[in-house]
Amino acid sequence: GGAGTASATRQVKLEKESELRIEVANDTPLRLRLLNGTAEIFGTELPPQIWLTFPPHFKFAVFTWYGATIEMDGSTETDYTADETPMVSYVNVHAVLDGRRNQAKASPESSQGPRVIVVGPTDSGKSTLSRMLLSWAAKQGWKPTFVDLDIGQGSITAPGCIAATPIELPIDPVEGISLEMPLVYFYGHTTPSQNVDLYKALVKELAQILERQFTGNAESRASGMVINTMGWIEGVGYELLLHAIDTFNANVVLVLGQDSISAFHLIIIQEKLFSMLRDVLKSKPNVDVLKLQKSGGVVSRSSKFRQKSRSYRIRLYAAVLPFHFLSILTRLVSCSFSQEYFYGIANDLSPHSNIANFSDLFVYRIGGGPQAPRSALPIGADPVANPLRVAPVNIDRDLLHVVLAVSYAQEPDQIVSSNIAGFIYITDIDLQRRKITYLSPTAGELPSKYLVMGTLTWLET
Ligand code: ATP
Repeated sequence: GGAGTASATRQVKLEKESELRIEVANDTPLRLRLLNGTAEIFGTELPPQIWLTFPPHFKFAVFTWYGATIEMDGSTETDYTADETPMVSYVNVHAVLDGRRNQAKASPESSQGPRVIVVGPTDSGKSTLSRMLLSWAAKQGWKPTFVDLDIGQGSITAPGCIAATPIELPIDPVEGISLEMPLVYFYGHTTPSQNVDLYKALVKELAQILERQFTGNAESRASGMVINTMGWIEGVGYELLLHAIDTFNANVVLVLGQDSISAFHLIIIQEKLFSMLRDVLKSKPNVDVLKLQKSGGVVSRSSKFRQKSRSYRIRLYAAVLPFHFLSILTRLVSCSFSQEYFYGIANDLSPHSNIANFSDLFVYRIGGGPQAPRSALPIGADPVANPLRVAPVNIDRDLLHVVLAVSYAQEPDQIVSSNIAGFIYITDIDLQRRKITYLSPTAGELPSKYLVMGTLTWLET
């Protein structure tokens, strides 16, 4: 691909089954519209003639099945046209899923629609494929459930969480997933190895709640799920993939990867993951394992970029997001971390600074501490750490700059099994006056006094 940085208004003509890949400039937004023909962004059709504004750093593609003319206004980091894409194979998967949804709907006992899980290494386009499958399904009137198990770069809520939400409309290309009431569980760390048992326990909680919701809702049951996973596929990462497949009863496993000689190691990773999963799942005849090619347009992100985009998202969710996770901020889905720009648009959503007494808030941490003191154990036995133990945390200066989740638990022993309402961010601890100052999306009382601490922090710059 070539680089384009022209800043005048210009038109691009796209032939059928090709796409325009764009990375918006670092400092200015890009305006774009569909002049004629039809085109979509990651599964969502563009309205004709209407200008859409994409924020700096945004990376996306405008794809056309039958040909289109696109007009752009503003500068880009890169933009180029590609006529080799895996889109036909992706839409074929969609067609198969659609058939299964119809079957599920038509069956007298209203059976379960497809449960798709998307797996593969980092930067293989898992989130993007999940998004396309969801948007294509929603366009046809289905209400699939999106489950995001990626605690690093998840697209439903802040890092450190796993979450689910029904998708009722094609996903907005700029704003991302619209969130009325997502179901969110707080893990508190950005790598699963920090507490594998807790991660598994939360995945199980989420799956059980969804299962319960499906029982009473034939429509979402027939629509099925699309489950996005982490890019961690070796060792414990692989074990967690199997755990997720099993826990959600996934019946379609899509293995994404790259099929190109210039990245030889990726071929092996995809092949290896694919054959391992196929062999392991052979005993389950109703599970299909499919290999899909990674799009050449997927942009690799450095670990620094990932770190930056994570802390940016923590900042936004802690400081600006109302407790029901307002959708406006999910435009971050595509990983822009240009703070000024977003604070510019989100100015109207200024966070509230609140003060509470030490005695008003109860902070807990999950895992870590030993289950029983050595003195209480039989001689020779080692005190084992209980990964699901809920332990109170002393309020002191260590809590400064920590992001805390607000749990829906009624009692401390329900914290592991409860979902969360949102986040607060500690800005000051006054040990003399025993007062905590924190930023919260809303003024007034928190939905609960039980707060959960992980290892997520954020330093205001
Ligand atoms: P991870 O597992 O690391 O979160 P992923 O496998 O989910 O990554 P995506 O988030 O889907 O990868 O894609 C990475 C980036 O590439 C995103 O910013 C996405 O918008 C962009 N991207 C994906 N497909 C294309 C495309 N065809 N053209 C241009 N950009 C694309």
